Amino acid sequence: MSLPTPRTMSPSKVATFRKCALAFRFSAIDRLPESPTPQALKGTLVHRALERLFWNHEPGRRTPGAACGELGEAFSEPDTMAALAALELPEKAVTDLRRDAEQLVAGYFSLENPDEVNFIGVELGLEANVGGVRLRGIIDRLDLTSTGELVITDYKTGRVPREGHEHGNFAGVHYYALLCERVLGRRPVHLRLMYLREPVTISVEPTAQSLAGLSRRTEAIWSAIERACASEDFRPKPSALCGWCSFQSLCPAWVGGIRAG
Ligand code: SF4
Repeated sequence: MSLPTPRTMSPSKVATFRKCALAFRFSAIDRLPESPTPQALKGTLVHRALERLFWNHEPGRRTPGAACGELGEAFSEPDTMAALAALELPEKAVTDLRRDAEQLVAGYFSLENPDEVNFIGVELGLEANVGGVRLRGIIDRLDLTSTGELVITDYKTGRVPREGHEHGNFAGVHYYALLCERVLGRRPVHLRLMYLREPVTISVEPTAQSLAGLSRRTEAIWSAIERACASEDFRPKPSALCGWCSFQSLCPAWVGGIRAG
């Protein structure tokens, strides 16, 4: 009997399969819970604060103070309280997390004036068939420029990758561009990664060729996933990412926290 192939996928799950097939199996097929981390919670809170800033405040009222207030609201939401409780952080760590989140939100205002943003979607969910797989993604923000063009913005709370290593971060937003093209019938003119910590924005222009290539690669990855499910063959692929992997205690490549072999 072969394993069930997932029916829908997020771009991040596709990326996980490329990095380590076994981690993909644990996450997407066995659906094992992944340990929360303070970094992930901080990222969620910053995204939530910026989402609330755009939904709850008209242009002219999207101030740093309003964003800071929305971050406070995000901290009080039940999901945040539950996540904080699960992390069991000491009080000082919670204070540090909150201060860092405030700095990240403040960093956003160095990158653009939100009063000038004409957004058509925030935390916008899109879904389409891509290369035989039902792909589902959530776009941080989709804007309409004054000339009627679409622009995707993705907020990043981590550090800017070293030169030559940006590709991984752009892979996800290229998927969002592909989803826009499939669902809205138009290719965004810019994909922007906003690194709130530095702060700096890196931008690329997706092309018809780059999106067609992504569609072909997705088809190939999907075929590989189907083969792996049919043969139940998901191999570990140890890398630096093992340090962040929630499944290390289940992984044959690691024994008692030490790399096997
Ligand atoms: S610990 Fe490393 S090799 Fe093992 S499943 Fe996780 S990412 Fe893959």
